Amino acid sequence: MVKIHTIGGFSEVGKNMVAVELEEDAFLFDQGFFLPAIVSMEERERVLTERRLRSIDAIPDDSVIEKIRHKVCAQFISHAHLDHVGAVPFISDRYNAPIYATPFTVKILESLLKDNDIILKNKVYAIKPNTTFYIRGKNRKYKVDFINITHSTVQCLLIAVHTPKGAIIYGNDFKLDNTPVLGPKPNYKRLREIAKEGVLAIIADSLYSGAEKKTPSERVARAILQEVLLTVQNKNAGMIVTTFSSHIARLKSVVEFGKKLNREVIFLGRSLDKYANAAKNIGVAPFFRDIKISKYRSQVERTLKKIEKRRHKFLVVCTGHQGEPGSILERISRKDLPFKINKEDNIIFSSSVIPAPTNLEQFAKMEKRLKKYKPRIFRDAHVSGHGGREDLRDLIRILSPKHIIPSHGDPQKTMPMADLVSEMGYNKDKQCHIMRDGEVLKL
Ligand SMILES: [Zn+2]
Repeated sequence: MVKIHTIGGFSEVGKNMVAVELEEDAFLFDQGFFLPAIVSMEERERVLTERRLRSIDAIPDDSVIEKIRHKVCAQFISHAHLDHVGAVPFISDRYNAPIYATPFTVKILESLLKDNDIILKNKVYAIKPNTTFYIRGKNRKYKVDFINITHSTVQCLLIAVHTPKGAIIYGNDFKLDNTPVLGPKPNYKRLREIAKEGVLAIIADSLYSGAEKKTPSERVARAILQEVLLTVQNKNAGMIVTTFSSHIARLKSVVEFGKKLNREVIFLGRSLDKYANAAKNIGVAPFFRDIKISKYRSQVERTLKKIEKRRHKFLVVCTGHQGEPGSILERISRKDLPFKINKEDNIIFSSSVIPAPTNLEQFAKMEKRLKKYKPRIFRDAHVSGHGGREDLRDLIRILSPKHIIPSHGDPQKTMPMADLVSEMGYNKDKQCHIMRDGEVLKL
């Protein structure tokens, strides 16, 4: 019997974690942060601890798999977003099993470990997307596929573990982008091959299963940015772009348009430094080569003083797209940094506000303060990294899994997936399983 333990990310958006149990072996997929809880505490506490994080429900409650802890033989991480990798430093050592992730995710993990003065006892393997490899269970070996998929950071995976009962696929965070701005397309060829061998179950990112669309390609976000940055009349004004620090493809577009404008592109903020350097170090972001990054407070202040006087010469990329307390844009809005926004300076949000109460509230506060300076504000120069209903339809059609476990949100968000697969001919009660945190599905 195969048991799927939905540990986190099924009663909320965040703290993703799943365990798959197969007789005497078990595999873990992702160990993520619940970001709203982290965001509201981060400025006060520089070093995080497991105890503190558990007390505010910021990491998955993996006590629900205590009984099978000894069975865990591999820990897989699907990609470098903090709601998937953030809790690894605090949870993974509870299991005596190596960690497998792509080189980019491993780099981010290493910097999280460094930030919190943690050294892991388990081995960490960096494995490139589109690799097939084997892991050792108690009495047998398992073939594993790291399949390249598109999302909103680099080196994202669909992970397939091949079992005697068919493949189990972890597809938590994806869209099907056939014209990505950076990195390869989804590996449809390998997906079709695996489908032929038979797929027992897929855990599928169903966050936007209720959105009747196919999520646009990153190329569309690039076109929106191009229009805002290159065609708006703003030759002498300041220009500030804020976006997700982990969105390397988006940053690539911003950097390229900055060059076209003959402006020097400057990155400001700790998380931009973290993700840009990780991408540079693994060789996927040569376009960051001559970008100056200011990370520490004194550096940021010095850089902003310089920009303040000759603002038309620079394109500032900074943190703060969610209005996070302590981020660069939020501090500029509070006059906590030596940079004053002038009337008709451009502020471009290449992002959307994550619709969680904390985010909405802190963004509204920042926006209100920013508007006092009368800047030009460009919201939503952005497309999502999560597939809509029609991406999901295509993936299900390619893989024809026997069972579908919608993930990445509470049942209200994932329920439309059941209607979709029922429309596709599935028995929605027997084959589509809407789960909550801490439950077990027996197949
Ligand atoms: Zn993600």
